[in-house]
Amino acid sequence: MNRLTGKTALVTGSSRGIGRAIAERLAREGALVAVHCSTGVEAAEDVVASIESDGGRAFVVQAELGVPGDVHELFLALEQGLKERTGSTDLDIVVNNAGVMGGVSVEDTTQEKFDRLFAVNVRAPFFIIQRALANLTEGGRIVNISSGLTRFANPDEIAYAMTKGAVEQLALHFAKYLAPRNITINSVAPGITRNGSPVFDIPEAVEQMAQLSAFGRVGEPQDVADVVAFLASPDARWVTGAFIDASGGTLLG
Ligand code: NDP
Repeated sequence: MNRLTGKTALVTGSSRGIGRAIAERLAREGALVAVHCSTGVEAAEDVVASIESDGGRAFVVQAELGVPGDVHELFLALEQGLKERTGSTDLDIVVNNAGVMGGVSVEDTTQEKFDRLFAVNVRAPFFIIQRALANLTEGGRIVNISSGLTRFANPDEIAYAMTKGAVEQLALHFAKYLAPRNITINSVAPGITRNGSPVFDIPEAVEQMAQLSAFGRVGEPQDVADVVAFLASPDARWVTGAFIDASGGTLLG
C-alpha cells in the first residue's frame, strides 16, 4: 500500500532501533522521510541508502537534542532538506521517537542524569511540536513514542518512566489544541523491543525478557513501526489523544 504518497515525515532518532524501522516503514508507504540522528550520521546515511534501494525517498538531518538550540538546528536542516526536494517546508508527519534510557537505580540517579533524561525525552518533543506547528499541514499526524513503563513498575527506571509519563500528556492536551486543523496526536507505548543493544545478543536475557510479553517473545522494531504507520495514515483520522499499547500484551499483567 502507498498510503503516504506525497507526504513528508520527520522521524527523530531514526538512525537505528525502533526509529529506523519507523522511517523505513513510512518510506515504504510513499512518504519522503527525514532520518534524524545525533551522533550516528553514518548509520542514518545507511538508513537513507536502504530506503532508496527500496525505491523510497529520504534524507539525513543531524541535530543533538536536549542541548540549547537543538530544535532550531533540527528545523534548519529539516526545512532545507524539504525545500530542496519538494519546494516547500510543509510537514505532514512528526514522530517523536528519539529518547535516552535511564537504567539507573534510585540511589544513582543524579540531578544531572535526571535533567538529561527530561531534556531529551520531554523538553525536545514539546518544542519540536511547538516549532512544527508552522509546518504541519491540515490533517497532519504526530506520534510520540512512550513506553510500557508508564504502566509497569520498574524501580530502576523511575526517572525514565517519569519522562514517558510526561510525554503521554502531550497527546492529551495537544489533541484538543490541534483538532481544529484535523491534526491528530497519539502516544505509542512499546514493551521490550530488540534495538541492537548488546543485551539482545545474550540468549538467556532475551528468553527472560520474552516472558514479559503475552506472546512469549521480545518485540521487533517492525512491530512498533507498523502501529505508528497506521496512526500516520489517513485510516487513523478518528484517533487522537490516545495511548496505544504496543507492548505485545506486556501490560496485561
Ligand atoms: P535506540 O537507543 O536504539 O536509538 C535511539 C535513537 O535516538 C538513535 O537514533 C539516536 O541517535 C537517537 N538519540 C538518542 N539520544 C539523542 C539525542 N540526545 N539527540 C538526538 N538523537 C538522539 O532507541 P530504541 O529504538 O530502543 O528506542 C526508541 C524509542 O522507543 C525511545 O523513545 C525509547 O525510550 C522508546 N522505547 C524503547 C523500548 C525498547 O525496548 N527498545 C521500550 C519502550 C520504549 P544517534 O544514534 O545518532 O545518537
